Amino acid sequence: MSAIAENLHRVQARIQAACQTAGRDPAGVRLLAVSKTFGADAVRQAHAAGQTAFGENYIQEGVDKIVALQDLPLEWHCIGPIQSNKTRLVAAHFDWVHSVDRLKTAERLSAQRPPELAPLQICIQVNIDGGDNKSGVLPGEALALAQAVVVLPRLQLRGIMTIPEPYEDPERTRAVHAQAHALWRQLQSQGLNLDTLSMGMTADMEAAVQEGSTMVRVGTAIFGRR
Ligand SMILES: *Cc1c(COP(=O)(O)O)cnc(C)c1O
Repeated sequence: MSAIAENLHRVQARIQAACQTAGRDPAGVRLLAVSKTFGADAVRQAHAAGQTAFGENYIQEGVDKIVALQDLPLEWHCIGPIQSNKTRLVAAHFDWVHSVDRLKTAERLSAQRPPELAPLQICIQVNIDGGDNKSGVLPGEALALAQAVVVLPRLQLRGIMTIPEPYEDPERTRAVHAQAHALWRQLQSQGLNLDTLSMGMTADMEAAVQEGSTMVRVGTAIFGRR
């Protein structure tokens, strides 16, 4: 078995154990393998071990991999910041975008999504804990952006994505995840049909699963250090 396959199985076991602790059905937590900085070969190995959903931060790097791996039935998620001059590439190549934090970006993605492709699946990135160097709308701005995005014709709004600051104290991280979950529920209570809470990475996937994550984005624990 490849090292990547072994790592994937370890991550799956961690998610399962966290689900068991939280009394959750493991079917309710998807694993997104974050392949940024790793080559197409690494993605092939992960796919051979059963992984189908991959996340990329850097648009051009992601698109190069998507094109190189067109022979495989993979689902590609853009999880990094998107400048306006990159929206066309994203709309043409990715299946999901987790990092929408401006209406202008969403409008461009909708306008540029090729008609022959399924709607682009969207999460709004929310800066839950107000970290300075981070993308994302503040929690109080999330509802207005979600309501503006949900009517765009070529997008399908699925939920929210968060990246907590790297706290020393895991309880603090968990508290931020709990806030994200509360916001997600609040948006649902406003009539938005959301099924995705994208939160949790290598260091905090257990805490995220405990607090209701439906999709963890894991890079290091699968592919190794960057
Ligand atoms: C890099 C990255 C990840 C994966 O982080 P790891 O700590 O390597 O698991 C997840 N989400 C986003 C937005 C990232 O940029």
